Amino acid sequence: MSLSETKSAGPLLQAVRFLARKGRRVWLLTLSGKEQLTANMLRLSFGGNDLGELAWKRGQDLVIELPQADGTTARRHYTIRKHDGHTIAIDFVLHGESPAGDWARAANIGDRIAAVGPRGHTYVRPADWHLMIGDETCIPALFAMIEGLSRTERVFAFIEIADDAERQTVESAAAVNITWLPRNGAPPGSSSILYDAVESFAFPQGLGHASIIGETHNVRAIRRRLIERGLGKDQCSAEGYWRQGRIGGHDHA
Ligand SMILES: Cc1cc2nc3c(=O)[nH]c(=O)nc-3n(C[C@H](O)[C@H](O)[C@H](O)COP(=O)(O)OP(=O)(O)OC[C@H]3O[C@@H](n4cnc5c(N)ncnc54)[C@H](O)[C@@H]3O)c2cc1C
Repeated sequence: MSLSETKSAGPLLQAVRFLARKGRRVWLLTLSGKEQLTANMLRLSFGGNDLGELAWKRGQDLVIELPQADGTTARRHYTIRKHDGHTIAIDFVLHGESPAGDWARAANIGDRIAAVGPRGHTYVRPADWHLMIGDETCIPALFAMIEGLSRTERVFAFIEIADDAERQTVESAAAVNITWLPRNGAPPGSSSILYDAVESFAFPQGLGHASIIGETHNVRAIRRRLIERGLGKDQCSAEGYWRQGRIGGHDHA
């Protein structure tokens, strides 16, 4: 984003200046599309003049600055679900009233936000088989990674969702086996269904790599157990994407 663009950015200016001061590349994103994927998942697409220069690894995220009605800015991590050179898509989990969800629901085509990144340690590692685990917040990262795999690769995914209607489909050249785990009324983050399902997964032959992302306590418990069962620490990438009572941010698992 050029300085002349920041001058016409109005309410964005403060956020852009804050991010630029830290020496980070700032992307000015303009909302160009809005699609309700499921009851709880809302996709927003954004354009930007310089998005062709955004180099990313599938699974990585942006830190986005969301203006709030009270004049404050909510800073949150969101995964780049898709990037086609000129447009990026971000999928928002709607989990009740919250700054990011409320902003996404109310956003209008043409609205502008600032973002920095890409960043983060969620991306595909070389492996004979990929174990991908998480709750609904993991879907954008896991599906972005799955879409980029080749036909020789194998994925075993365990994904916790609110109910069966939250299932999504993903296209991939790889052999992909997804086990959907509906909570059916249990609150997010409270259930052991993900842990229990992964416990019953027998590791295939060869070198495996596990990506575990979602609610922090669940992520930590699953990572610990996979390591107890024989996966090396370097075979596990884990990150807490949200935690009860935590506002934005992330936890290294
Ligand atoms: C690297 C990274 C990538 C991420 N990518 C995505 C993504 O692509 N899509 C996505 O939807 N999320 C993603 N997240 C998670 C998202 O950043 C958090 O859920 C964030 O807290 C949402 O902000 P909020 O304003 O909705 O809620 P906050 O203001 O942060 O929190 C308000 C309350 O809601 C609770 N809460 C937060 N998230 C959830 C949730 N998912 N379910 C239930 N309760 C929740 C909090 O514990 C808190 O009590 C990612 C997180 C990280 C770290």
